[in-house]
Amino acid sequence: MTWQKIVEQIESSKESKFTLVNARPLAGGDINSAYCLQGTDKSYFVKLNHADTLAMFAAEAAGLKELAASRTVRIPSPVIYGTAAERAFLVLEYIEFGAASKTSDRLFGQQLALLHQQRQPYFGWYRDNTIGSTPQPNTRNDSWIEFWCTQRLQHQLQLAAAKGYGGHLQTRGEQLCDNVALFFDGYQPHPSLVHGDLWGGNAAIDKRGNPVMFDPACYYGDRETDIAMTELFGGFSQDFHAVYQAICPLDQGYATRKNLYNLYHVLNHINLFGSGYLRQAESMIAKLLSEIN
Ligand code: ADP
Repeated sequence: MTWQKIVEQIESSKESKFTLVNARPLAGGDINSAYCLQGTDKSYFVKLNHADTLAMFAAEAAGLKELAASRTVRIPSPVIYGTAAERAFLVLEYIEFGAASKTSDRLFGQQLALLHQQRQPYFGWYRDNTIGSTPQPNTRNDSWIEFWCTQRLQHQLQLAAAKGYGGHLQTRGEQLCDNVALFFDGYQPHPSLVHGDLWGGNAAIDKRGNPVMFDPACYYGDRETDIAMTELFGGFSQDFHAVYQAICPLDQGYATRKNLYNLYHVLNHINLFGSGYLRQAESMIAKLLSEIN
């Protein structure tokens, strides 16, 4: 990879000189290759992928801006995105990570609760984006139940069918979608700004102890979706959850809806990573159907 074109674009967007010293590959991403571009007095974080992923990076930059505007959890500032040498790139502020502590975990719970208090009048967002590299539609809808069925579960089920995961997954999945309203008896969520892909790999603590979130798939939806995902693969402490719940208590139906919300991510994992997640999705659907029968 020659970095010259990207360096030039950083310089023109920042209107200042950037002298590259070293481009260091970073581990941790599932979808893109990531680098720290170290300069003489400043560093940048860069993601690279095929040129046809430019729209994905544009949506990610828009999501980072939306989250940052809430002035709640720290978000890396987007610098520029574009194409160079037949690759799409996204440049962000580079953030050096530190160690989590009880205090930083509590702060994260508090700041996420404040993020979730950012609202708009409808579910969805002004634009579509991606979750991982899977397209994520965010068409405006006044009904959360309809939004969750059509733009989340059925959308992933259709992508899975196109990849050959038909049969049982589809019939049981459709059965679930037909009955989703039963999980919302007495519960009416508000359209809250959510990160949308909040697993442990998309959050960290900076050197000063401030929580940081990145790689969002944001939209306005039920805030329970973010909390559910923090529980899907773990990595979020009791302190985080306790402070979040003290500010934004969870409805008692959350315990059941958690699976309904995490099913979206497990279906997405089938679409991104293959059949290893099929049994998990099927058993989640079976459990959810058993709750309402
Ligand atoms: P992907 O889109 O491939 O999943 P991520 O956005 O998750 O990539 O980034 C990959 C890794 O790079 C993360 O796990 C994190 O450790 C690190 N990272 C992400 N954003 C930054 C940043 N702004 N500054 C420093 N490191 C970052």
